[in-house]
Amino acid sequence: MSHTLIPDLVLDAHGARSGLGVTIEGGRISEVGPVAEGERLPGKALAPGFVNDHSHAFQRGLRGAVERIEPSRPHDDFWTWRERMYALAEGLTPDSIREASRRCYEEMLSAGYTSVTEFHYVHHLPDGTPYEDPNALAKAVVLAAEDAGIRLLLLPVAYARGGIPRFRDASVEAFLRRVDDLKVWSEGRPLIEVGVAAHSIRAVTRGWLQELGDYARGGGLPLHIHADEQRREIEECQTEYDMRPVELLAEIGFLGPNTTVVHATHADERELNLLAGHGSSVCACPTTEGNLGDGFLPAMEILERGIRLSIGSDSHARIDPFEELRELETNARRLSGRRNVLLAEGETSPTPYLLRAGWGRGGLKAGDSADLIEIDLSHPALADVEAGNLPSALVFGSGSGVVVGAWVDGQSVCAPNDTGS
Ligand SMILES: [Zn+2]
Repeated sequence: MSHTLIPDLVLDAHGARSGLGVTIEGGRISEVGPVAEGERLPGKALAPGFVNDHSHAFQRGLRGAVERIEPSRPHDDFWTWRERMYALAEGLTPDSIREASRRCYEEMLSAGYTSVTEFHYVHHLPDGTPYEDPNALAKAVVLAAEDAGIRLLLLPVAYARGGIPRFRDASVEAFLRRVDDLKVWSEGRPLIEVGVAAHSIRAVTRGWLQELGDYARGGGLPLHIHADEQRREIEECQTEYDMRPVELLAEIGFLGPNTTVVHATHADERELNLLAGHGSSVCACPTTEGNLGDGFLPAMEILERGIRLSIGSDSHARIDPFEELRELETNARRLSGRRNVLLAEGETSPTPYLLRAGWGRGGLKAGDSADLIEIDLSHPALADVEAGNLPSALVFGSGSGVVVGAWVDGQSVCAPNDTGS
């Protein structure tokens, strides 16, 4: 059974086209072209759904609650924020993480994200004992994604030291057994893919990192890690290993084309060259990095080296893909004192580069997953914008409020008005 949607405009990274229909068949786009019959979407544009490549869904529970100092501790930074986050993580149960994750994923869909990469590290009972089903919390997150209807790349996260007991596994073998079981359990779930991650160099030992790299390579799995987010983390790595985080990752075989380094805020030139040389990616989370006072990643240097870039809403202080993309360019402008900074080769506007980073593709085409968003062209932010300027108006002059519908795997999953639960 195929289904054709006929919007006023189909948007891609470079512009907008009218007179096209998007035909969906079996969860994929089978054709984008002129059609006479289908479901008309008057006043709407269709575009690819955004990919949220880094999420800790439960951390959305901190929204608004951590925007003040404790008078006894007037210096607030990433490390004090982390204590508040640990306290939230301590209280999670399988039911509460499912509920919190579902709400977070529904908000993502309403904001235009149709796919999420969940960096999941709350694994066990608060004292560190595994649940009767050792993957109980990971499965709760999967069920939350299915409840909401969002596509999920679930990354069980290895945690060897530090943090709180419920993050940690006794051995890397025990951790990988859980990943194996989760992969088997997830088979046949169309929205779910399982990869693997290491939390960070401070939380995972060199031996574990090596094992995780081997495991991911052997299975062709996505492999993520937080790195170079905080200067203190880099100093600790240099003290322990006499090298910087990405240098260590390169040396032990953790980097490859399926590897994503999350943040890379303070990556230096040598580290960026290593990422480029291994074909690895960087995920930027500008709204969270700003909220936490992390800093801003070397976006121009990443672009110049052809390192693939994605975005994530990470702690969910804010969930808005347009804002993440805008932050990338406007921070690059603040730092350089120039305009239109993140230009890919041969392009005169940063918009195509930014949208490709957000969508993970350049537009809608046959063969792609039918993960789409519907944009309200009569929204006050867009109403008078010429069609050709719409992609830039989305990035520079609008927010998630312009998104009025989403399709995942060819299914209509939400209109923002539906989510007022
Ligand atoms: Zn993170």
